Amino acid sequence: MVGNGCAFCRIVARESPAEIEYEDDEILAFKDLYPKAPVHLLIIPKRHIESLARLEPGDETVAGHCVRVARLLAERAGYGERGYRLSCNTGPEGGQVVYHLHFHLTAGHLTAGRRG
Ligand code: 5GP
Ligand code: ZN
Repeated sequence: MVGNGCAFCRIVARESPAEIEYEDDEILAFKDLYPKAPVHLLIIPKRHIESLARLEPGDETVAGHCVRVARLLAERAGYGERGYRLSCNTGPEGGQVVYHLHFHLTAGHLTAGRRG
């Protein structure tokens, strides 16, 4: 779903609140509402892409940009050398709940999926 039907499109449109940590023309990063680690950010393209499984030719640029910004944010949070995790739940059996492409950046003491 796009627009009002999509929770993350609403955040992009500033129709829903979020603690935004990074923004540029293409992407947005904000705190996960239910953090599973001391650092838990979601990095999303502003443009609605459903999931990794729906990536079209040409979407690689924005997806790669998300990955680079994840690194930047991990470093900014002090985890550049200590390490962090970047994950992308994809599809029903991949644990995806929100169908707007997002990368989870988690760092610190992970309370879930530690050995995943
Ligand atoms: P998924 O399981 O789809 O990979 O993860 C969705 C994530 O989005 C979950 O970690 C959930 O806590 C987070 N989330 C869901 N709705 C909202 C919201 O409205 N605002 C924020 N900041 N996070 C959300
Ligand atoms: Zn969306």
